[in-house]
Parts: sequence; structure tokens; C-alpha cells
Amino acid sequence: MKLKVFFWLLLQDRLNTKDMLRRRRIITSDVEGCCILCEDNEGETCMHLFIKCRFSVACWARIGIFWPHRDTVIEGVEAIKPRLRMKFSMEIIVTGAWSIWLHRNNCTFRHEIPSINSWLNQFTAALKTQSQRCNPSLRELILEWISNL
Ligand SMILES: [Zn+2]
Repeated sequence: MKLKVFFWLLLQDRLNTKDMLRRRRIITSDVEGCCILCEDNEGETCMHLFIKCRFSVACWARIGIFWPHRDTVIEGVEAIKPRLRMKFSMEIIVTGAWSIWLHRNNCTFRHEIPSINSWLNQFTAALKTQSQRCNPSLRELILEWISNL
């Protein structure tokens, strides 16, 4: 449920990213509004954080996902779904994005250092938990996919 709400907010561009906080005038300086996962001084929009950020690109690449160029997250998700040709492609996308968000929160609030391995550990743990809600044959496929990462 938590993940579904998160992903819905992401698609609606309503997550409390720094860009959102700036639009609501909670953050006022440019430096504060920058992405914490890379050193590119990019504003932390949903599009940057989850798809375009160098760190996130490397995370997705680690699990074989390469986002096509689109203007919005929702267009990106629509474009990538048919390309993945997997029964559980949405589980991967939602869990991958959720893990980026958790990692971003840990880096922002607990001063962790961005790490693809930390992201991957978080991602596989969360996907295993998700798989417990699937039917046995799908769960098997997901667990097999994870073991090949
Ligand atoms: Zn970034």
C-alpha cells in the first residue's frame, strides 16, 4: 500500500522533492534545492531524481533498465513498460523508484553517502517483500530474476 501511494504521488508529480518544496517556498536557496545523489548541481525534480540523475541511471542500469527519453515521468513509465517484456515489470519499476526515494532520504536526513550497492540491497529486499503478495508462480519468477542480478 505504501508503495502504491508513493508511486501515485510520483506520477502526479506531488512528491515532496526539493523542487516541490521550492515551488511551495519552503526552500529558498538554489543550493538547498539540488539533488543529493549526484554532484551535477541539478534541481531535485522527480524527473531528475528518478530518471535522469547520473546516480539513478547507474542504479537502473545495474538491473538492466534503460529509460527512454521522455518529458515526464508518466510518459517514461508508459514508454518503458512494453519494452521490458516481463510479467513483473511494474513491480520492478515501482520498487526501484521507491528504493531511490528511500536512499535519497537516508542521504538527506542521515547523511549516508550515495551507494549503488546500498540501493541494490534495499531494492532486492523490498522486491522480495513485494513478491510475497504475488501468486506462487510469479513469486518464483521474481525470486529467480533477483538471484541473477
Ligand atoms: Zn542527481
